[in-house]
Amino acid sequence: MKKILIIEDEESISMVLEDDFRLEGYEVEVASDGLDGLEKAADPEIDLIILDIMLPGMNGFDICKKLRSQGIQTPIIMLTAKGQEIDRVLGLEFGADDYVTKPFSPRELQARVKAVLRRIEKEPDDVGENFFRMGELEVDFLQYECRISGRKVALTAHEFGLLKYLIQNRERVIERDELLAEVWGKDVVVSVRTIDTHMANLRKKLEDDANQSRFIISIRGVGYKFASK
Ligand code: CA
Repeated sequence: MKKILIIEDEESISMVLEDDFRLEGYEVEVASDGLDGLEKAADPEIDLIILDIMLPGMNGFDICKKLRSQGIQTPIIMLTAKGQEIDRVLGLEFGADDYVTKPFSPRELQARVKAVLRRIEKEPDDVGENFFRMGELEVDFLQYECRISGRKVALTAHEFGLLKYLIQNRERVIERDELLAEVWGKDVVVSVRTIDTHMANLRKKLEDDANQSRFIISIRGVGYKFASK
């Protein structure tokens, strides 16, 4: 269930929105002043923030700025007053994702919320649980896709498994035995040579020049390491 935080001091608005989003199946939290809102917005369980601009305590722009400066990237939709072009521009400049002009229909806001949540889901982090990007290399762990400069690289399941494991453990050197156990499984009998063969193929596919590896470093006699910067 998606959780929405509404920061709005006008009760007539926040109550309608709260009911409305609940009916649509969202979990809703409400804050009626800026400072309370700022505190609640730091909750990592919040999926989206609806943020009014004129608020007691701290205004919406400052809340937005503050959250972004703290590295909190929760999507924000700002509620701006009619005709306040400046508000909209400022809001987006301070890191808001969208805005809705008052007065608005709950249906319109619902649609914006859905659109922003959809967009965010399609824009994974550079380095997340399911996605990795470094330079021209992009790996989508969910789709089992690997791209170099946007060009798809066809990997076998084992090659992909090796690459994924190296990336996910890129802070250290990984021994061949561990790669075998993790990628092939403990019960499968293959020799460590197999790893070298697959790794050589993987590197050939990823690199222009397999001898000058940008992504995968071979540590002689030990194993392999992902070449993170
Ligand atoms: Ca207000």
